[in-house]
Amino acid sequence: MIRFDILTLFPGMISPMFEDSILKRAIDNNLIEIHLHDFREFSKMKHHNVDDSPYGGGAGMVLMIEPIYDCLHSIDGFDKALKILLTPQGVKYTQEKAKELKEYNHIILICGHYEGFDERVRTLVDTEMSIGDFVLTGGEIPAMVIVDSVSRLVPGVLHNEESAPTDSFEDNLLEFPQYTKPYDFMGMKVPDVLLSGNHKEIDKFRKEEALKRTKERRPDLLEKRQG
Ligand code: SAM
Repeated sequence: MIRFDILTLFPGMISPMFEDSILKRAIDNNLIEIHLHDFREFSKMKHHNVDDSPYGGGAGMVLMIEPIYDCLHSIDGFDKALKILLTPQGVKYTQEKAKELKEYNHIILICGHYEGFDERVRTLVDTEMSIGDFVLTGGEIPAMVIVDSVSRLVPGVLHNEESAPTDSFEDNLLEFPQYTKPYDFMGMKVPDVLLSGNHKEIDKFRKEEALKRTKERRPDLLEKRQG
């Protein structure tokens, strides 16, 4: 069981994700636990402000540290949890990182918005993560990306436990091509080996196809395999 706490100004953007499909089932089966916290509720300002203009001037509004600090400290067991700040300036999130995070019992994710955070918010966390070299309006989508990709690695979350080990990025390979019915769609046929029933040959075909596809699309992964 992994517990995720997400600090956000927009819990409504995140909650629908847990009301359907695999993550809902994982919650219902007590495999993951999700707590959403609106840190605006911790603002001591008259109008519940959580941001202000930057010292030194410049565009946009910067999130203040106090509501985030107070919200974080209100979470049970926050001191022992892994605390992650979502920012485009963080270390790049990958499948490898998802596997590392799966080993934690409690993860706290802090979502920024607007222009970003007061620099001192960085002192509240253990690590900073980015989901890629692009800038989003807020940390909600990155938080959802992390919760989803980590949760599906928790034993029991996926129904077919066999599927995860052949997924892309396992072993630094992209997944081999998959086919289902019909056998022939407008002249595009399923490779005959997949209908042969010969599992040794099927495994060999899939391994070769995974290597070929990775070489074509992501040669950087093959370099990691060799290195
Ligand atoms: N001014 C900030 C900068 O240049 O680094 C970007 C702020 S962004 C508009 C607002 C918030 O969205 C960030 O504080 C962060 O929480 C989140 N965010 C945006 N892009 C992200 C990314 N690629 N990975 C993780 N979080 C991101």
